[in-house]
Amino acid sequence: MSNSSLIAYTKLSPNNSGKRKYPITKITIHHMAGNLSIEQCGEVFQSRQASANYGIGSDGRVALYVDEANRSWASSNADNDNRAVTIEVANDGGESSGWHVSQRALEACVGLCVDICKRNGIKELVYNGTKHGTLTMHCMFAATACPGPYLKSRFPWIADQVNKILRGDTSAGSVPVSFVPAKTEEEGGLDMATIRTLTTAQQDTYDELVKTVQILLNAKIGTKLAKDGFYGPKTAAAVKTYQSKNGLAVDGMAGPKTLSKLFGV
Ligand SMILES: [Zn+2]
Repeated sequence: MSNSSLIAYTKLSPNNSGKRKYPITKITIHHMAGNLSIEQCGEVFQSRQASANYGIGSDGRVALYVDEANRSWASSNADNDNRAVTIEVANDGGESSGWHVSQRALEACVGLCVDICKRNGIKELVYNGTKHGTLTMHCMFAATACPGPYLKSRFPWIADQVNKILRGDTSAGSVPVSFVPAKTEEEGGLDMATIRTLTTAQQDTYDELVKTVQILLNAKIGTKLAKDGFYGPKTAAAVKTYQSKNGLAVDGMAGPKTLSKLFGV
């Protein structure tokens, strides 16, 4: 079992269980809940009773903390950590941004996942929103906000990009992150596929589009949502109010019908 050749920095953590019990068949992506450099994260894993196989900084650099051959202490779940390569990704924005992740870090994450899949014979990264997929997240195993709303919304894109590259599809990597349909699950969500059919702003980022929804809600139902681009509980509650006033199913999700109504289509 080898480690990735993409690593720019190595700081092995003593916090691991030694050799894995099972072959590598999964990848679990976490967030740091802070904008730590890969060196700072490496320091944290020297002392705190936690670790991950790899770390990715907002600058896109990759670090090795636990050899792939060994089980890291990352996901609050022994079975998952015995099967998964675990990755900690830095946040270039705080909680109010939904724990935003830089595009460089996201692209590095895709590259690292491809490399892990290739070396370990994983043919496809399956993200199906459950712990039974081959791409998993911390909150599937424990009551944690990890990996945060923004990174969660990127999981379908990450899996799609990785699989395109694994299949040799040359269009992979050419799709900017901001074009990617995204939907947060637990905090409510925005149906990007629909919103793009309603706006000509093809280059809008997810955050900008959430902002537009917040502005429209403020204008139409008189809420005073912060125009911060974060689809949090307050925005979800305003969407519910809007839905109930407009005879729509009240679920707090900005799905196709709600967006069509909101955008006046
Ligand atoms: Zn985590």
